[in-house]
This record gives sequence, structure tokens and C-alpha cells, in this order.
Amino acid sequence: MKTLEIFEHINAKSFEDAVAALQKGNAEVVAGGTDLIGTRRFNVLPSNPATLINLKTIPNADYIKEEGGFLKIGALAKLEDIAENDIVKKKYAALAEAAHKTASPHLREMGTIGGNICQLNRCWFFRKDDNYYDCLRKGNTKTCFALTSDNRYHSIFGMEKMCAAVNPSDTAPALVALDASIVTTKRTIKAEEFWAVAIPGSTVLDSDEIVKEIQIPTPASGSKSAFKKLAIRESIDFPIVNCAVLITSSGARICMNAVHNKPRRATDAEALISGKTITEELATQAGEKAVEKAVAMSNNKWKIAATAGIVKETILAAANA
Ligand SMILES: Cc1cc2nc3c(=O)[nH]c(=O)nc-3n(C[C@H](O)[C@H](O)[C@H](O)COP(=O)(O)OP(=O)(O)OC[C@H]3O[C@@H](n4cnc5c(N)ncnc54)[C@H](O)[C@@H]3O)c2cc1C
Repeated sequence: MKTLEIFEHINAKSFEDAVAALQKGNAEVVAGGTDLIGTRRFNVLPSNPATLINLKTIPNADYIKEEGGFLKIGALAKLEDIAENDIVKKKYAALAEAAHKTASPHLREMGTIGGNICQLNRCWFFRKDDNYYDCLRKGNTKTCFALTSDNRYHSIFGMEKMCAAVNPSDTAPALVALDASIVTTKRTIKAEEFWAVAIPGSTVLDSDEIVKEIQIPTPASGSKSAFKKLAIRESIDFPIVNCAVLITSSGARICMNAVHNKPRRATDAEALISGKTITEELATQAGEKAVEKAVAMSNNKWKIAATAGIVKETILAAANA
């Protein structure tokens, strides 16, 4: 049972301010708080940092604008603003749709893109209240409870680190498919390299590093993109699997998420469809190709077929956009 928690709360005035506060140690940043406050409230982790650094007080960090051949999105931009932005809807449709399909209207009005890509996983062993399971991802034992228990929604790829939790972000695959870069307070990271099997986090960020901006190159004229998501409830739910696809005149980028610790590009499927006229048959073959290396656990064989289906549907949606 949760007892009253006393913590310090700092309203950052700039990213430099926030980094300086992080560097003092035992601190973490909060944006919309829709993920982080839940982990604190339900005592998900063994302990919580004593200081919360509020990023929402940083001025002008929530912009969405085209500049110098890129769409630039401030880390504090709300998901609903991204979903409703006319430029994003027109030229970066996969991202607009991904943001639109995230959570519920209320959560999208609070949740930011920075928080969406940095959120922790939703594995029911990891997330169980009061740090109930001393699981591998918390760095405490050698056990991933999902490997031997109810793993119906867990990873179907690369359990090499033996943690079967999946990355639950809806915007992440769209950013990878659109070849985005993540600009932090230290460096610029290709979206494809931003997520990690890190424990307990989910990204390659250093402990004193903060996401400032997302940059997406403007797709060549004639490019089309789409996002699809399979979830139990349409109105509000994390993805069981999702997929984003970008089709250009000569190539394709396909990224799946909720299938591994981090988003996964389907490069074999990309090669199969690149430069070709997309037919239902080709999209079906690409969906099957995307899961060729998938490995089922005891309860999630069905998820491999579901993933193939979502990849197929997303390719067709992009081609017909
Ligand atoms: C009921 C419910 C349903 C949900 N459904 C979905 C869903 O369908 N799809 C989905 O993708 N997500 C979903 N979410 C998760 C979450 O609400 C969203 O991902 C949201 O975008 C998180 O953004 P935030 O600003 O609230 O993050 P916060 O909660 O403020 O932060 C989340 C994490 O990111 C870190 N962080 C935040 N901003 C930065 C930054 N700029 N730089 C570095 N680290 C940062 C924080 O330290 C924290 O660890 C759901 C959440 C709930 C509660």
C-alpha cells in the first residue's frame, strides 16, 4: 500500500536548468505526467527519485513547424496538437494518425511527444503495483516472469536479453518509418537508434539527457504514409501491435512496435515492396516476410499472425492514401 510520498518539485525555466537539476542526481523529468505519475502512484519501481523536474514550464518548447526541409516538433508538443495539425495530417500522415490513435482525448491533451517516446513499458509483471514482481527489467533478479507465465501480449522478437516486455509507444514506429531524428540536450540520435533494451528505462538517453526536439525530413513529393494499430479497445488502449509505413517512388520504410523491447523495422518486407506497384498479394507477402524471424512463446503465437496482418493493412493503407 502506498504511503504519502514527499518529493521536491522544480519548475524548469529552460532545458539547461532541467539538465543542471538532473545532474545533482536522484531526480527525473516530468512532462504531461500521464505515464510517470502512474508509476509513482502505484509504486511500480523499487524507488522513486526525490526530485521531479517539470519541463512544462520551459517556454516555447511545444512548437510544430516546418523549417529548412524538416518538420520540427518541440518535445513538449501535445499529442492532440500533433494529431490535429494540418501540415502533419497532410505530409506526415503516419505520425498524425499515430498521435490520434494514442490513448484517449484527455490523455492526448496532456501527454507530450517527448513523454510518449520515453515512456516505460506496460508489461503486467513490470507494472504490478507495489513493485510486486522483482523482475529482470528492474535489474533485481535473473527472471523475466513473462517467459514462463501469461505472455499473450509480449514480445515476438529478440528476447536476447530475456526481457519479453514490448515498447508500447504509438508514435515511435511512425517516427522510425518517417526517418526522424531525436534532438537531445547532448546530441542528435536517429529515431531507429533511440530505443534500447535498457534497464529499467526504454531509451539510450543518459541519466542527465533530455529530449528537446524531433526532426522529420519532409518526404519527397508523391510519398505516402500510414499508421495502423491493433488494440483490444478502439476508444483507449495500448497497442497489441502497431505499424507505420512510408512509401516513396523508389523505396519503403516499415516499422512495427509492441513486438519487441524497441520498435523494429521490417527491412526484408521493405525490400520486397520497394519500387513495386502494391497489390493485395504483394502486401500479404510483405506481412509474412515481416514476421519470418518472429518466435512465439507459450501464449502469443496468435500475435505473429496478427502482426503480419497489421503490416499488410498498413502497406495497403499507405499505397492507397
Ligand atoms: C490509460 C492510459 C492509456 C494510454 N494509452 C496509450 C496508447 O494507446 N499509446 C501510447 O503510445 N501511450 C499510451 N499511454 C502512455 C502515455 O500516456 C503517453 O505515451 C504519453 O504521451 C506520455 O507523455 P507524457 O508527457 O505524459 O509523459 P510523462 O508521464 O511526463 O513522462 C513519461 C516518461 O518520459 C520521460 N520524459 C518525458 N519527457 C521527456 C523528455 N522531453 N526528455 C526525456 N525524458 C522525458 C519521463 O521522465 C518519464 O519517464 C497511455 C497512458 C494511460 C495512462
